[in-house]
Amino acid sequence: MAPRVTGSSRRECGENHALVPGGAAARVAPMSLRVLYSEADIRRRVRELADEIRPLYAGRNPLLLGVLKGSVFFLADLARALAIPMEVDFVRLASYGDGTESTGFVRFAHDVERPLRGRHVLVVEDIVDTGHTLHFLTSTLATRQAASVRVVTLLDKPARRQREATIHFTGFAIPDLFVVGYGMDFAEAYRHLPDIRVLEGDCAAGGEETSRTGAR
Ligand code: 5GP
Ligand code: MG
Repeated sequence: MAPRVTGSSRRECGENHALVPGGAAARVAPMSLRVLYSEADIRRRVRELADEIRPLYAGRNPLLLGVLKGSVFFLADLARALAIPMEVDFVRLASYGDGTESTGFVRFAHDVERPLRGRHVLVVEDIVDTGHTLHFLTSTLATRQAASVRVVTLLDKPARRQREATIHFTGFAIPDLFVVGYGMDFAEAYRHLPDIRVLEGDCAAGGEETSRTGAR
């Protein structure tokens, strides 16, 4: 199925206020949350991805390598939909810089715990945006003698790409929007939402730009 942007245009205003990062100067900005993909949309697409991915890994005891924290919900659902023997591990990546956008300087805040030599590794990402994170991760993994390294991302924002990043399986390709929910955050909020929503500025005025965070 060709990835596409769908979802109801249900918009919630008023009680959805997000903390704008900024320490003592933090203020509360009114935000709207528009559903981009419903729980049913996500469930359907995760099943399709699992059906596409399963034949490549059945009998190979793959290592699903989740990128913390955003991919946790997706990994949990994908692993159950794959329904084959596997192992799970996680990395946590951090980027140097001003914290408002992923930079070219990415490092491990937590490295892989399982040995990768000879393993079939499936990297599980929430979103590929500029591509810096994925480029760093896959080029690092390439030196560790894995039998194979493939990448599945729930969301891809191709228009934002600054760095080439190979993706083997994509849930949905989306335009340049800032999304939250289903594990993805804005300043650590909204991860618990069961669906994927677009975080937008003041819904009354329709004006304020949503700032990007370094959140993963
Ligand atoms: P990169 O720019 O290096 O490709 O992406 C870095 C990470 O920033 C992504 O894996 C994701 O965790 C986070 N990110 C990028 N775009 C968004 C977004 O729209 N919403 C949220 N919550 N996180 C994002
Ligand atoms: Mg991520």
